[in-house]
Amino acid sequence: MGIACAVVGAQEAITRPQAQKVIRPRRIGRSFVAAEFFFYCFVSFQFSGHVCRVMQDSQSEPPPAPRSGPTTWARPVWLDLTLIATAMVTVLWLLGQPAWCQCGSYRPWSWEIDSRHNSQHLIDPYTFTHVLHGILFFAALWPLRRRMSAGVRLKTAAVVEAAWEILENTPMVIERYREATISLDYYGDSIANSVFDLLACLAGYAIASRLKWYYSVALLIVVEVVLLATIRDSLLLNVIMLVWPSDAILQWQSG
Ligand SMILES: [Zn+2]
Repeated sequence: MGIACAVVGAQEAITRPQAQKVIRPRRIGRSFVAAEFFFYCFVSFQFSGHVCRVMQDSQSEPPPAPRSGPTTWARPVWLDLTLIATAMVTVLWLLGQPAWCQCGSYRPWSWEIDSRHNSQHLIDPYTFTHVLHGILFFAALWPLRRRMSAGVRLKTAAVVEAAWEILENTPMVIERYREATISLDYYGDSIANSVFDLLACLAGYAIASRLKWYYSVALLIVVEVVLLATIRDSLLLNVIMLVWPSDAILQWQSG
């Protein structure tokens, strides 16, 4: 994905100019914050259980036929996931992304998408689009289930998501977002936010692995609709605005 090229020299390329335009942050109602907080607690609670089960599934698959030669040591899935996360953090650090929001507040969430806190704390409305990434990755990898074990598919999703988090924080994509979307105050994610985005994706993957496909589709639609209604942005709009920027959508989002 050209990520290696992006990393080289990215340190110098990153500049953090002052925002030219100050936008009054859209405040989201307290009830919404509370609802999303409880939803997040629910998701985290489910996530730990689901990931454990996905890992168990991958571990409990029939052992490979014994081979002669040196003993092979099958690494547990969680170790690979930790390695993937560590690699992502290292590359983001090399890209010069901040560890945490520059504001210094250790509040774990931020709900003002037009503010400088967006994508800088652990959780924000876009965390939910990453849960959708996980659901979509599960769906995309499902046809390969005969050829790839559950663990390998989970790790593939993690690698793709980590690669996306890195790509998202290359100067090229940051500039494109700033020019084409409502995110004028966007300088990329903080490393803490990227780690939580990766966890949100794994949560989405684990949820999709346990739900009937139509519940996953319903969850996807509900999250998209709630995001459109509350922050006038969503995964679909995000992709559209990144690939084919539209003035009409931008006007609606800024309105
Ligand atoms: Zn902040």
